[in-house]
Amino acid sequence: MLIVQKFGGTSVGDLERIQNVANRVAKTKKAGNDVVVVVSAMSGETNKLVAYAEHFSKNPSRAEVDMLLSSGERVTASLLAIALTEMGIPAVSMTGRKAGIVTDNIHTKARIEEINPSVMQEAIKEGKIVVVAGFQGVSQDGNVTTLGRGGSDLSAVAVAGALKADLCEIYTDVSGIFTTDPRIEPKAKKLEHISYDEMLELASLGAKVLQNRSVELAKKLNVNLVTRTSFSDEEGTLITKEENIMEKPLVSGIALDKNQARVSLVGVKDRPGIASDIFTKLSNNNVNIDMIIQNVGHDGKANIDFTVPVSDLNDAKRVMDVFVKESEVDEVSYDENICKVSIVGVGMKSHTGVAAKAFSTMASENININMISTSEIKISMIIAEKYAELAVRALHNAYELDK
Ligand code: ADP
Ligand code: ASP
Ligand code: MG
Repeated sequence: MLIVQKFGGTSVGDLERIQNVANRVAKTKKAGNDVVVVVSAMSGETNKLVAYAEHFSKNPSRAEVDMLLSSGERVTASLLAIALTEMGIPAVSMTGRKAGIVTDNIHTKARIEEINPSVMQEAIKEGKIVVVAGFQGVSQDGNVTTLGRGGSDLSAVAVAGALKADLCEIYTDVSGIFTTDPRIEPKAKKLEHISYDEMLELASLGAKVLQNRSVELAKKLNVNLVTRTSFSDEEGTLITKEENIMEKPLVSGIALDKNQARVSLVGVKDRPGIASDIFTKLSNNNVNIDMIIQNVGHDGKANIDFTVPVSDLNDAKRVMDVFVKESEVDEVSYDENICKVSIVGVGMKSHTGVAAKAFSTMASENININMISTSEIKISMIIAEKYAELAVRALHNAYELDK
């Protein structure tokens, strides 16, 4: 078999743990498999590098930020290759560029355009373990790019897809996908399997155990994805097609996203095309918009509220300042002390009352709901950040996910 094994920050968090990873990779290789490893930077490293850049500038060039951040993954990739070679297992580390990962040029959140796996394939043919530095690629014009926070998961899935690997294992610091973040609700239960669509919702809604774009790509390329822990041999969670799962729980999990901010526009000129102007401008500046609510105001003016990831807030502010200056909007305010709690489950498609239960659970905890959005398989609510954990535990209990 050809197996891609990805090790996250905690799994390569110090030298002893890198040795531990080397041992596991060696074991998989000795069992007769070809192995391609994708590694993250040591835990805390990427944050440290971000802080270094911010020491010098509030708004550093994103190309420079990518140059800086990509170094974290190189450190672990080369150390792991050195450790493996020392154990008598031939290994070679590769940057994203050498591994053939070509992206667009949207620095700090680049998208993979294609992978040219021939250099990796050659090394595999020579019997070597390929260790790829995750989270990075190269743009057509030769610049280093990074794939957005948590992007090593995406590197792993993309490499697995390009090499037509039999399996892609994501090793992390929890033993699989749980009904909610086990650090928030210790009663959370590990799932044996979960569908791509549910996992995609959970990941997009804040469950950082897998980066959402990695799940999207796994679904598209039909990559067999397993999430498990690097600290024991415990079995993990299989992420697979919905058809492969027999029992369909009403609710599979609860997700929490604290990295949300609300932008409130008061007195938006009520003219045809204004919403289009605002949201096109935001989109052209790569601001991701999530929920939007428009209220009818008065005197021919409306109010619009929307949410963005905290990381996009500065860009959103720059765009909105222009609208205020041009008198298209009277006032704009920002609130970072909000969060989004979401309930996800394919069973919702065919059952009623799931949303009602979410709202009554918030009511009985005296938590005010600011915004609501729903889809076929999820319900999301924006609430004050101070109630985040309380809301997650109350919902987990209300849907009996610990049973
Ligand atoms: P890595 O560094 O290995 O990529 P991450 O920190 O990105 O690991 O993701 C693992 C973390 O995701 C866990 O420690 C856990 O706190 C969090 N998490 C959030 N939601 C879930 C969930 N539903 N199931 C498991 N872990 C979750
Ligand atoms: N090191 C990067 C981050 O912290 C990528 C990753 O770990 O997946 O976001
Ligand atoms: Mg991660």
